[in-house]
Order: sequence, then C-alpha cells, then structure tokens
Amino acid sequence: MHILSKFFRNKNGSVIIIFAFCITVLLGFCALVIDYGIVVHKRISISNAADAAALAGAQELIFNSDNAEAVAKSYLEANGADPLDAEIEVYDSDTKIRVTVKSKVNHYFARILGFDEGNVEATGVAMCAPVIGVYEGIRPFAIEKQTLEFGVQYVLKEGGGGGSNGNYGALSLSGNGASSYVNNIINGYDGHLRVGDYVETEPGNMSGPTVQGVNTLINRCNHTPECTHDNYSSNCPRIITVIMVDTLNVNGRSNVRIAGFARFYLEAVAGHGNQSIVTGRFIKTVMSGELGDIEDDFGLKGVKLIR
Ligand SMILES: [Zn+2]
Repeated sequence: MHILSKFFRNKNGSVIIIFAFCITVLLGFCALVIDYGIVVHKRISISNAADAAALAGAQELIFNSDNAEAVAKSYLEANGADPLDAEIEVYDSDTKIRVTVKSKVNHYFARILGFDEGNVEATGVAMCAPVIGVYEGIRPFAIEKQTLEFGVQYVLKEGGGGGSNGNYGALSLSGNGASSYVNNIINGYDGHLRVGDYVETEPGNMSGPTVQGVNTLINRCNHTPECTHDNYSSNCPRIITVIMVDTLNVNGRSNVRIAGFARFYLEAVAGHGNQSIVTGRFIKTVMSGELGDIEDDFGLKGVKLIR
C-alpha cells in the first residue's frame, strides 16, 4: 500500500498516465496475438473447406459438369463453411473449378480498440485432366486402345482361340514367367508407367496363373453388400487399373506402347483348361496419378489442386 500510495501521489499523476499507457499497449498486444490467432485458425479452416470443395467439384466435372457447383457447395457445408459466402466458378472448358470462401471473424480483445470483426478469404482451385502416368498398382492386362463405355463388359485377357500370335492380353511387367504374372495380378505392379512407355507382352495362355490371380483378387472383396460395377468401395481389390496399348497384334513376346490407362471392375475369370477369359466392366472413377495432356483421351481422369 505504501508503494502504491507513493505512486499515486507522484507529481501531476504522470505515473498513472504511464501506467495507463502500458496497460493500453499490453491490451493492444493481447488483441493482436489472440485475435490474430483466431483469424489464422479461421483462414486455415475455410482454406481446407475451399480445397475439399474444389477437389470434389473437379471430380464432378468429369462426369456431370452441371452438378459440380452443387457438389462443391455440399462439401463446403460438410467442412463448416457457409456456401452462401462462397463464389464458385467453373472455367477453361469445364476442366477447372475455383472456390472462394469469405467469412467474417468476430474479434474479442480488439473490440477494446474499436475493431469488432475482420474478414478472411481463401481460394481453392482444382483441375481435372487425363491420367498420363500411374505410380503403382497396375495389373498385367492390356487392351487395345478404343473408346470405352461406362458399365460395359470388356475382355481383359482372351482365352484359347482368341488373341493374336500367341498374345492374349497378358503383360510381363516385373519379369517374365508365371510367378511374376500372378504376383502382378494380385498385388499390382509397383513401378511407375507413363503413356509412351513400352511394356512387354507375356505370351501364352497363362490359364492356371490367371485363374489363381484373378480369383484371389475377387475373393478379397469383403465388402457388404458385395461390390458391383456401379456400387463399389473405392478401395475394393476388384477395382483395377489396366493398360491400353496401341495394338496387341504382335508376334510372341514383344514390346507394345502404352496409349493410356483405364479402370475396371474385375468381374470374373471364366472357362476351363486354356479357356480362361478375364472380364471387367469399365467404371466411372478418378484416380491419383500423373496428370497431363494426352493424344487420345480414353476416359481415365484424375484431379489435383492447382492453388
Ligand atoms: Zn469390394
């Protein structure tokens, strides 16, 4: 008390003024630190929402661009951002989508200094583009390049009597022979392949290894209900990536050029003896991979954030 009273008796109250000034500065710092933290947190939050909405909208651009904006809005809502505060633009021939979210942030300490609220803004931009490179998981089946229709059944490996010059659609991706082939069916090839690369065919019917590999994969789907080509879990082992090649009309073991990639729902391996035929249905899906321009677009697209 003695010290305090001494302060207050100080000439012209200058100490009180200094004290008040210090308190004001201190409160100012509080306002800056705490309210700045709130602003940063809000900006991260709406930035994540804008990115998620842009990615989801970009996926929709591939299949139904009219729906992209609605899907982006639903992702904003699910991520805690108000769609009414967002601007969504689809551009560049329906290949890109920009989602800008604006939000007000209530200040707490800064109110003392007269700042009741602030504005934050975040933008997410995503694009869809053909997949020109796949990093992992490619299965050792090749089909000739063609326009594929969603939901339609295609032969991924021919049976005896089919194919050409000893090639039935099987590929040698990580080494020749049955064991590499089976391993590639079950686990996928773990290397990176791109459009324009050459891969080697695996000639011969490979019936036993084909049946073993394909049935192993099919049996690994333990989803309930069991996955189908139009209702499947995205991580289902039956969803596979195969290679589209310029031609399979080659003699014996030969190099064939990769023209693109396609995703299939692995449907069945049918037939007996050397008649094992592998069928799959072309599916609507996007996948992660290397994106870019491609000469012929066979329908496999990916999405990525570009801002
Ligand atoms: Zn499944």
